[in-house]
Amino acid sequence: MDEYCIIASERGKRPSDFASEKPVRSVSDCVFCAGNEDKTPLATAVYKEGGVLVDTEGSLVTGWDIRCIPNLFPALSPKPAILPEDLAVSQWSIQEGFGYHEVIVESSIHGRMISDFSDDEMSLLMRVYRDRVSHYRSQDGIEHVSLFKNWGERAGASLDHTHSQLIALPILPPSLKREQDAIHAASGCPYCDIVGTESESVRLLYENSGAVAICPHFSMSPFEVWILPKQHVNHLANCTDEMLRLIGDAIRFVVSRYDVVLGSPSYNYMFHGIFDDDSYHLNVRLHPVLSTPAGFEKNTGIYINTVVPEAAASYLKG
Ligand SMILES: [Zn+2]
Ligand SMILES: [Zn+2]
Repeated sequence: MDEYCIIASERGKRPSDFASEKPVRSVSDCVFCAGNEDKTPLATAVYKEGGVLVDTEGSLVTGWDIRCIPNLFPALSPKPAILPEDLAVSQWSIQEGFGYHEVIVESSIHGRMISDFSDDEMSLLMRVYRDRVSHYRSQDGIEHVSLFKNWGERAGASLDHTHSQLIALPILPPSLKREQDAIHAASGCPYCDIVGTESESVRLLYENSGAVAICPHFSMSPFEVWILPKQHVNHLANCTDEMLRLIGDAIRFVVSRYDVVLGSPSYNYMFHGIFDDDSYHLNVRLHPVLSTPAGFEKNTGIYINTVVPEAAASYLKG
């Protein structure tokens, strides 16, 4: 068995917390808004006017473009709690919850959305993603950095001010390990094959000179989209500024189509990459939250998708 879970008691303390957790809707309460910098932990990186700064005690950076802060309720911590003694001798494989959990506040302006971002804003966001995953990869004990965005309550966002998150892990997630093993056993890169074949298919949603967006024929959920760089590259950390610009352009296109065609749904997007393995092919997966995994999905890990990908691409293209 190679499934993992993280027990993070700081994130939900009582049963009633689960029912009452609602996104913060007003600007005055929003800890991510400009002017409320003192309501979060000190920022670890603040992007402002082309430079990178950090907060220090008594000196908080204001007037910023993008602000990176430790999550106040981290799933993992650089100083994890000591394991209970009875678990330490059990048959389960366990380890302390070591890692890092950061929030990337993508704009100082409340209500701004990815679909509103200018080319420059989107390019900066992508470069920040690259900086921050590279930073955490360089920390002792970190094997993988999960980078993702939750937008909207149904996608798991507890604050509606636009932000992404990263969680730096001491392991490679089992799903990526399985994928890595399959790629090593294949002849050539399966993702490069997908770029080639899907560029000519009805499942192609968008392309620019550096990336394609497709509705994969094995979509797990309605309107799932994958973005693949045309050039083989294993990780965000190894992308040039131009590659990042073009991937960012594709992300903004897809999210904008979700907003128009699906009525601004909650969505997640997630970056998949493997550090130090050139055989992997960076990809970004976008899932609008339009259905809820139920008993069958949880029982089998097999997903029922009620929208065929060819139709999804056609709808999204309008
Ligand atoms: Zn806000
Ligand atoms: Zn490839």
